[in-house]
Amino acid sequence: MLLAAPRGYCAGVERAIITVEEALKRFGPPVYVRKQIVHNTFVVDDLTRRGAVFVEELDEVPDGSLVVFSAHGVSPAVKEEAGLRGLRTIDATCPLVTKVHKEAARMAEAGYEIVLIGHAEHEEVEGTLGEAPDRIQVVDPARPQEATTGGSGRVTWLSQTTLAVDETMRAVADLRERFPGLVDPPSDDICYASQNRQEAVTRIAPRCELVIVVGSANSSNSQRLVEVALNAGADAAYLVDRAADADEGWLSGVETVGVSSGASVPEGLVGELLDWLAARGYADVESVTLTEETLTFSLPPELRSSRDPR
Ligand code: SF4
Repeated sequence: MLLAAPRGYCAGVERAIITVEEALKRFGPPVYVRKQIVHNTFVVDDLTRRGAVFVEELDEVPDGSLVVFSAHGVSPAVKEEAGLRGLRTIDATCPLVTKVHKEAARMAEAGYEIVLIGHAEHEEVEGTLGEAPDRIQVVDPARPQEATTGGSGRVTWLSQTTLAVDETMRAVADLRERFPGLVDPPSDDICYASQNRQEAVTRIAPRCELVIVVGSANSSNSQRLVEVALNAGADAAYLVDRAADADEGWLSGVETVGVSSGASVPEGLVGELLDWLAARGYADVESVTLTEETLTFSLPPELRSSRDPR
């Protein structure tokens, strides 16, 4: 069995979860959270048991309550609504998502048309789009040919942070063919955590008949790991929320299994899967480590001061 590393929690997820835990500790339940704080069923269920209340939109949050914005970010309109309602807010948006928001706002201000490569239904993309809805068009990484421009000749691109690197670069090449003056963003938007997890899976997949990725179905970066495993040579790859979702039938004729997990997955869930595999004859674990991750983010400013968030 090959165990890919890095896997599991990234710095942005760690910070977002600690933010809700700290808010519960300091202000007491209920702490409302707009959308899933991170896309993992286990994490959301655990925080719910401890007093967090997950809502889809702010109109479900009672006046005067404390609400946390998730790691995926929110559009300026949501922040404005919270301000108008007098809600107390803590913003747990990952700083690497905030960076994309700032790029979007700056490029829109400078007069660029922005092609945002990403999945339109994903919360992160909704939030970034909200920075300049008149200037941004969302294009799926698999369908870059759908991008159009208003003919201004000033076109740039940005991307969702959790896309597959190869697919995104292919989409950019396609855009550049049709918009020769396409301006690149100052830095990559696909975050270090997505890139590292994808590269680690790319390294193990050619040696595996089967790759199992632990992650929830709505987790973009986890879904990408399954695609990357298949593209890198695994015969089969599956996403499971936890070990109980794995199917013994997948193991038929399999000599080597690869395992990884998405950036929102607690390591305990990987441990469960390793136990499940060990009980079925795959007890021998070889760790394949691409790199060590040391990045951490400080907590949101609202939790660094002793004042009640406003
Ligand atoms: Fe931030 Fe990347 Fe983690 Fe998303 S996957 S929370 S962008 S570090």
